[in-house]
Amino acid sequence: MKEPTSTRLLKVPEGLDVAAEALRHGGLVAFPTETVYGLGANATDEAAVKRIFAAKGRPVDNPIIVHVSDLVQVAPLVRNYPAAAGQLAERFWPGPLTLVLPRSGLVPDVVTGGLDTVAIRMPDHPVARELIRRAGVPVAAPSANLSGRPSPTRAEDVMEDLAGRIEVVLDGGPTGIGVESTVLDLTADPPAILRPGGVTWEQLRSVLQGVRPAPAAAGSGAGGSDTGGSGAESGPARSPGTKYTHYAPRARVEVVAGDPTRVGRRLRELAQGHLKAGRRVALLCAPSTFRGLADLGGGTVLRRVLDGLDYKVLLAAEVYSQLREFDRQGAEVVLIEGVSTSGLGAAVMDRLGRAAAGRVWRV
Ligand code: AMP
Ligand code: MG
Repeated sequence: MKEPTSTRLLKVPEGLDVAAEALRHGGLVAFPTETVYGLGANATDEAAVKRIFAAKGRPVDNPIIVHVSDLVQVAPLVRNYPAAAGQLAERFWPGPLTLVLPRSGLVPDVVTGGLDTVAIRMPDHPVARELIRRAGVPVAAPSANLSGRPSPTRAEDVMEDLAGRIEVVLDGGPTGIGVESTVLDLTADPPAILRPGGVTWEQLRSVLQGVRPAPAAAGSGAGGSDTGGSGAESGPARSPGTKYTHYAPRARVEVVAGDPTRVGRRLRELAQGHLKAGRRVALLCAPSTFRGLADLGGGTVLRRVLDGLDYKVLLAAEVYSQLREFDRQGAEVVLIEGVSTSGLGAAVMDRLGRAAAGRVWRV
């Protein structure tokens, strides 16, 4: 739908009833979850869900995750609910785990991209759950960004992309985890991670032996050194969304991960090359790495160092908002220190690989 909409930016809890009402009447509401902001519509209202695709510019074959506030909402959405789903829900819901299950007739085609499955999760955020509870319907919600842009982790990010296109943005402050949910296909045998996310493969394995890890994204695979540019678009698209370029800022992104000394050296080489060519360079790295690069000269280096105990966790939480910030500052190249692919690193490197369109170096 192309008609302009005036978007109401509302605080919580005051805005919850207005937002729930909007959802019940076919409106679009952006709301915080523990991963990123979601753009919600009543999942059982085909016309409402279609508006999500229009607002985001999302390819229509990319299905949308259905969010619930309570386990009783799941049964009507699925044809069957395997025992493994029960065990996983018990352990990880509410939380950043999405389960792909056989869909029921209640779920419109537009939600699933015509697939015979539906992806469901229960978010671990009080605002998200209270909104869904008050709306009284399951809520289909992809990330609340324009398709292809970095996911939104703050209400301002949502406004930047979607103001004038949706009815309500609920401002619940910055989100916590920062990367999206893990998408687990329980209709595959053995169950397979389609997209790495906030619940790690290691955690899933502790409940469900034999679960298959996510296919390696460009540059995040084991072993290969110096393999920039292998492309993030290859491989089977069981989770259709994963075949699209994602999370990308306007700036060109390059990622270097591995041995800290070599990472520092490679980041320096890359930065110097770009600076020589007159490009505005931004750096996102750990403080220890930055100390070795502090002399990189020129007013054209925009720096952001993530200072804290766990660089991997911080990077997950802040990378999207940093990419947006660097865009606002006019960076032409963003150089990022990557992380190992264990634990949450699998999700972080997956997203970085896509933002970088495969320009990832393991050193
Ligand atoms: P987002 O658009 O960021 O919310 O991501 C949703 C992800 O879940 C995309 O990668 C979708 O392709 C995936 N997804 C949603 N529904 C299904 C489904 N029924 N089967 C497989 N993947 C799904
Ligand atoms: Mg998304």
